[in-house]
Amino acid sequence: MDRERHLEADIAVLGGGPAGYVAAIRAAQLGAVVVLIEEQELGGVCLNRGCIPTKSLLKNSEVAYLCHRSREYGVESKVSEILWQSAWSRKERVVKNLRMGLERLIAEHKISLVKGRGELVGVREVIVDTEQGTISVSYKKLIITVGSEPAIPKIPGIRIPGILTSNEALELQEVPSSLVIIGAGAIGLEFADIFSSIGSKVTVIEAEDRILPAEDQEITGELLKGLKRRGISFKLGALVQGIEQDNSGLNVSIMDQNGPAVLKADKVLLAVGRKLRAANANVLKIGIQVNDTGAIVVNEQMETNIQGVYAAGDVVGGKLLAHLAYAEGRVAAENALGNKSSVNYDAVPACVYTHPEVASVGISELEAQKRGIPVITGRFHFRHNGRALTAGEREGFVKIVVNSENHIILGGQILGYQASELISELTLAVTAGIKAEVLADLVHPHPTLSEAIMEACGDALGRSIHKIN
Ligand code: NAD
Repeated sequence: MDRERHLEADIAVLGGGPAGYVAAIRAAQLGAVVVLIEEQELGGVCLNRGCIPTKSLLKNSEVAYLCHRSREYGVESKVSEILWQSAWSRKERVVKNLRMGLERLIAEHKISLVKGRGELVGVREVIVDTEQGTISVSYKKLIITVGSEPAIPKIPGIRIPGILTSNEALELQEVPSSLVIIGAGAIGLEFADIFSSIGSKVTVIEAEDRILPAEDQEITGELLKGLKRRGISFKLGALVQGIEQDNSGLNVSIMDQNGPAVLKADKVLLAVGRKLRAANANVLKIGIQVNDTGAIVVNEQMETNIQGVYAAGDVVGGKLLAHLAYAEGRVAAENALGNKSSVNYDAVPACVYTHPEVASVGISELEAQKRGIPVITGRFHFRHNGRALTAGEREGFVKIVVNSENHIILGGQILGYQASELISELTLAVTAGIKAEVLADLVHPHPTLSEAIMEACGDALGRSIHKIN
């Protein structure tokens, strides 16, 4: 069976995650003959081990929380416990459904999917080890989209069984009675939300003195209070010294401002960032430039130092976000086929799907100060928003950062119910350089959560109608 087959393509895409499959589809739309090479399932981390399965489980958390609060809504609910096996199977069904849709998309665009591990053997050839034997693919242009994987920190005891990454946490067959999570970034907090709502006693350890260190401090301060109210414990400004195992489980030794302490846990989840996979697939061997963070270096067109070789998604570093990978994949394909496209990195939204959610776009007040841009800010709390109150979701607020000289909206941060949906209005504003007056005067449907954006813009201009101080 080990016969070598040969395929020729205009565009070969190495990696079928969000950057890769979007690049492949866009290239096919532009008339190219496309080969997409993927060693695991289509959809990459996002669909199979990231965004989608976690959002499915976070919906279970939301339903359980609502059941817990059902009397507030006049509904008598006796069950507020998540049946893990059912939640797990629902997540599997959602992922499978989306993956089948993606397979259809690839087929409809007449993209040749080669399933196997690809290794670059030169600038214009990839060899793929498939179940049907070796396939060599030669191409005019290549787009590398090989992604990232969980980073494993150098902590004594890190290889002890029961220490998980997000990959294994999604496959747990039983709910851990107690879970220590190392890292309070997006992954750490989303898993803290999921597991605390299904009954695990969750403690999050974070080296910095606050959660989500990259987000606005006013927002994360409120989020911290909300997560604590839901029963999640935090050790901030804490360094993990080591992990040991005894008969009763895992012992995580930490050092914080109160001195040394030991946290006992059934399982430990590592959520300390991700490692880029640029060293895979012989990328380095063929001379592609990689920087000291391990990211493939690309220019505005997403082209590497080797002409005709592009890269997109997590492997080029920066913000590791699926929607940014989509944009970079599209841009790489368009440029590889002779168009002139670029990604607007100034208006990339970021969302954390905890309860309540966090979403932000553009620059924060602090970032504006650092850049010496004079700004005014506006705020509007959901507790003064009609729709939020009818939904029983009063936590959080919208914050707007506006250039004080020309009133152009530079950024916005939202904490609250459906923040991830609301952020698109502000993403459009930042992208198009819209002034606060435009959103303050834009007729928003009533009652909606989006009115909080209108009111926050009004507040920045000193004319919010519904703001109560
Ligand atoms: P992250 O870099 O966002 O957060 C990791 C956190 O761990 C940081 O706050 C860091 O200070 C802390 N940390 C690092 N080493 C530590 C140690 N030894 N002890 C204690 N704390 C330590 O990484 P992540 O949460 O793992 O996420 C990885 C990537 O995936 C990020 O780029 C993230 O944006 C992306 N992601 C996005 C979403 C989303 O958009 N909702 C969801 C999941 C992941």
